[in-house]
Amino acid sequence: MDKTYNLVPADVKTIQTAYRKIQTKIPVPESIGFFETLLKSEPRSMQGQPPVLIDSAEGFLVRDKWGNQWIDWSSGVLIMNAGHGRPEIRSALMELIERPLLSSYVFAHEKRCELTRELESVSPDPENYKVFLLSTGSEAIENSIKLAKTYAQNTYGAKRKWIISFNNAFHGRTLGSQLAGGSESQKKWIGDCSAYPFAQVPFPDGYKNTDQSFDLFLRSLDKLEIKPDEIAAVLTESYQGVGPDFLPYEYAQDLQRFVWQNGILLIFDEVQAGFGRTGSFWGYEQYDIVPDLIVCGKGISSSLPLSAVIGRADIMDMYPPGSMTSTHSGSPLPVTAALESIKIIKKEKLSERAKRLEPVLMNGLEEVRKRYPERLGCLHGRGLVAGIQVVQKGSKVPDPDTAFRINEKCFQNGLLMFAPVGIAGECIKITPPLIISDDALIESIQVFSDVCDEVLGAG
Ligand code: PMP
Repeated sequence: MDKTYNLVPADVKTIQTAYRKIQTKIPVPESIGFFETLLKSEPRSMQGQPPVLIDSAEGFLVRDKWGNQWIDWSSGVLIMNAGHGRPEIRSALMELIERPLLSSYVFAHEKRCELTRELESVSPDPENYKVFLLSTGSEAIENSIKLAKTYAQNTYGAKRKWIISFNNAFHGRTLGSQLAGGSESQKKWIGDCSAYPFAQVPFPDGYKNTDQSFDLFLRSLDKLEIKPDEIAAVLTESYQGVGPDFLPYEYAQDLQRFVWQNGILLIFDEVQAGFGRTGSFWGYEQYDIVPDLIVCGKGISSSLPLSAVIGRADIMDMYPPGSMTSTHSGSPLPVTAALESIKIIKKEKLSERAKRLEPVLMNGLEEVRKRYPERLGCLHGRGLVAGIQVVQKGSKVPDPDTAFRINEKCFQNGLLMFAPVGIAGECIKITPPLIISDDALIESIQVFSDVCDEVLGAG
């Protein structure tokens, strides 16, 4: 995915609706210097998103300072579940800033206590689950791997070493999280991965892999010559970000039975799916299963960096005082933002709202897909996360160039998404804040539809 957006300002049509405003060339000529400076001072890897220089963001709207305004279909990157710039979050943060209490290391403070209680209360078993606060999704994934492997070693001995995850999975960009990831190209830098006890099996997404039976999981382990009593944990995203691709219900049930029968821990990566995104508070709840460890982040705070591992107390308590910490664990500002964000998600019933808006989004997108069935190969989604895979005519071969063109044209038309995802950048991902209004959602689907007509209608 080495596509970069055009930094030459293009003449685009002026737009002025209740939500979208495009008043300048795009990208804005005055913003180009900033992008050039960033390209000079940061690694190239930080480019790759639509060239908007964000000045403010509120609700489901993102603005620059030159009068342009976009409907946000990105939620940051699935961060702003409760919406951008919520007054409740801002004023709680201001109170702390003015007190002042800006940092705390592992010295305790009241809000940390409130948040761990809150996250415990939304765990599978509040009496028997504990919460470890961290800063990023990758950090929390690393911690869950460490906990699972330690638990397996302590309980069964050194032979229980494998972490089994899925092809095309994404769990972050640090060493452990990438070893657990399912993209070979992203792991090249590691070198010989066979030195590490991590293995992946096919994910039953129903499009790229049409075999959705749990038997494939078992056969894949056989092929890898890994026996159940050598497995510490199975790790999966609640839905795979590349699709989004969801486990079939039966498969998830079979997986639960398999891990229970074999003393294997089940880790659910809820970094994208958590906090209402898929129409339930957690993604895993839709499978009637019970993860031993839940990893979350992103939408937890609808703003500042925070992540957490929520897990069975007997697993979480293995390390003695002082030996499993992180400098910014439970930092007051992110913790306060998370408390307020979770309060909003609950009070405004945003999981239910995502569920209610699911048919609006999915039916609208399916209308578009049906017009171009040979190019828009697959539409998956649940709640307020959806993805459309753009393919070469009549095939399943990814077409990242066309996905990119659609994405860029939406940007020029006042609809902001992050760059396409997927195995090859072929997937246009749609993830608005959960508070998006019905009419803004409908307007944004129309923009997407018109852009598809412009790009795909030409042949
Ligand atoms: N897990 C999943 C499912 C993710 O989507 C991401 C980030 N996109 C991560 C883990 C890593 O999170 P972070 O970027 O905060 O380290």
